[in-house]
Amino acid sequence: MTGMIYNNSYDIAAVMLSVCCILYFAMTKRIKHFKHTLYAILCGCVFTGSLSNISAGAFAAAGYPFAANIAINTYFFVNVLTMCIFGLYIQCISGYLMNWHKKNYIFYSIPAAVTALLIAANFFLHFLFYYDADCNYTRGKAFLLLHFLSAMYLIQTIAGLLKNVVFIPKRKVGCLLSGLGVVVAGIVIQMIFRQLQIQLFTEALMLTLMAIVFENASLEVDPDLNVYKRKEFLDYYKTACDLKREMTLIAVSLVNTEQLLSTLSGEEKAAAFRSVCEKLSKKVGHHNVYAYSAEKYAVMLDRSSVKDYSIVENDFLIALEAMFNQSWSVGEKKVYFNALVTVIHLPDDVDSVTLDSVFHRGRNLNFTDSNVVLRDHKDVDILRKRTRMLNAVRRACENRSFLVYYQPIWSVDTQSIVSAEALVRMDDPELGFIPPDEFISAAEEYGLISALGEIVLEKVCEFCADYHPEQYGIEWIELNVSPYQLGDANIVQKFARILQKYNIPVSFINLELTETVDVFRNGIFEETLKQLREYGFTFSMDDYGTGYSNLANLMSNNYRTVKIDKSLLWKATDQEGMDFLMITVNQLKSIKLQVLQEGVETKEQLDIITSFGGNLIQGYYFSKPLPDREFIAYCKRLAG
Ligand code: C2E
Ligand code: MG
Ligand code: MG
Repeated sequence: MTGMIYNNSYDIAAVMLSVCCILYFAMTKRIKHFKHTLYAILCGCVFTGSLSNISAGAFAAAGYPFAANIAINTYFFVNVLTMCIFGLYIQCISGYLMNWHKKNYIFYSIPAAVTALLIAANFFLHFLFYYDADCNYTRGKAFLLLHFLSAMYLIQTIAGLLKNVVFIPKRKVGCLLSGLGVVVAGIVIQMIFRQLQIQLFTEALMLTLMAIVFENASLEVDPDLNVYKRKEFLDYYKTACDLKREMTLIAVSLVNTEQLLSTLSGEEKAAAFRSVCEKLSKKVGHHNVYAYSAEKYAVMLDRSSVKDYSIVENDFLIALEAMFNQSWSVGEKKVYFNALVTVIHLPDDVDSVTLDSVFHRGRNLNFTDSNVVLRDHKDVDILRKRTRMLNAVRRACENRSFLVYYQPIWSVDTQSIVSAEALVRMDDPELGFIPPDEFISAAEEYGLISALGEIVLEKVCEFCADYHPEQYGIEWIELNVSPYQLGDANIVQKFARILQKYNIPVSFINLELTETVDVFRNGIFEETLKQLREYGFTFSMDDYGTGYSNLANLMSNNYRTVKIDKSLLWKATDQEGMDFLMITVNQLKSIKLQVLQEGVETKEQLDIITSFGGNLIQGYYFSKPLPDREFIAYCKRLAG
């Protein structure tokens, strides 16, 4: 270099630093994403740039002008390219790159393309810079053009960052600005002290900073689920909303997991959730999947970048449903998840929903519901109602304010009331009086059913201890137990403690179970059932004829009573219905089960079921469910 001593120490440092960044990049596993590709290119640029600058000096010193020219041309080309990629990287991290279309990319690459042409021409024409035959370095008249092209990228990057600063998550802004600051400082210092050659070193410093903050997988990837963390999702979602980007959020919430998973160990649970994330990632690309919580996942799809998007979305939803209709293997065990999938189209739906509600929206899901895909984004009312319901159940659990009503059960043999079914009610200060059909499923879904069940049992025991219904001929009480409660491994101890507290014999409580396909395909409740049976509880099968109950289950589970669902009785208005009911009763009696008919409302119905041999009768014909005092008064009246 003419008249100037070239100090290559900073370039050597830049080579070493960029090699470290490349090694770090190569050694850490990360989710495939455009920004990482850009980072890798950026590392390559800084490495090549500094190496070619060093080589140019070395070749010139050794008297090889041709090699020195190749090296210096490479250096200047890479120099502009670095600024180009750096700008792109910053915009990608900031998120506003998502608003770019093809034409943006084309415009953006023009200065880099011009540089490539200029450098190619310069190799022969020497109008930018060159080493002459004596290895003297000379700058040509047009040299400033290169600065101008670099500056275009730098200015655009700074302007873009400042213009979009409001969209960029705050914690990222600081780091991006400092990275940019370091690079600008390097350029300024080099312009003032040309012999320092510090620019590439500051670029390598910037690479290091980015490696720590943006290329550090552990900061953005959930270690258990191996998908992006919640805060990455929140950032991305916010930017997409702010930019009014055409995107689709597919919210996948696993529902009813708490009870289902209570038989799995911590590790097995983690493996189960992880495999859900893995399958989602395989279907839509790893970089599109985010963890909202351990059991709720977000898939973000860019509508504008996909051809025939609606077909893609539809295919994905179908695949999702199929995915959740199959079992998930966790070690030796198999689990079934129910998933609630909500589709939100940005930007149209954003105003009508909050993120939290998207993940919690849904209609009452009960145990037999399969997976539900909700596409109608206008059902905010359902959503609000659901949230209010959940809050009401929470309040009632906290204040133990559930009410228990009793519906008498009549014995055909003794012609008297021999039992009663305990039926829970909720009288909420906000929502008023609510029947169980509306809140039991909410309690099940949000893992509150165990608490609810315990409160009901305690109230029943309190009632028995206070009123001694056995004086009026009541021999036992029927208590409804949700299959989800059986997932609670401590249910036996909890029930036993309550019975002991009120000194109620276990034979006084008969547990009503509703069998659903899930119980038996999982087989995970068998153990709890066995323990309850060993403790002395007896069982009725509820709603026989509606669900998945069959004779084989009935025999294997030692039920005492079968409660025939009211629908079977109500259909017995013609010969076919009558025959069906009669066959059902006969079948059950032939395997020595007591038959209880629910929903008997009229004298005719009572006559039909008694003529078929039904043993016990429950229904409005005798009485609706009554509050405790009224029930006792009812019993007294009948007994007296
Ligand atoms: P279930 O166990 O089948 O209870 C019988 C339901 O039928 C009760 O509704 C009762 O009021 C109603 N019913 C009885 N006789 C007649 C009749 O003659 N005609 C008509 N139309 N209906 C009649 P309810 O109290 O609304 O309870 C609904 C369901 O909620 C119950 O169905 C049960 O599955 C669940 N449930 C109630 N209490 C509890 C509880 O403490 N724990 C759990 N896990 N579930 C409960
Ligand atoms: Mg029942
Ligand atoms: Mg029933």
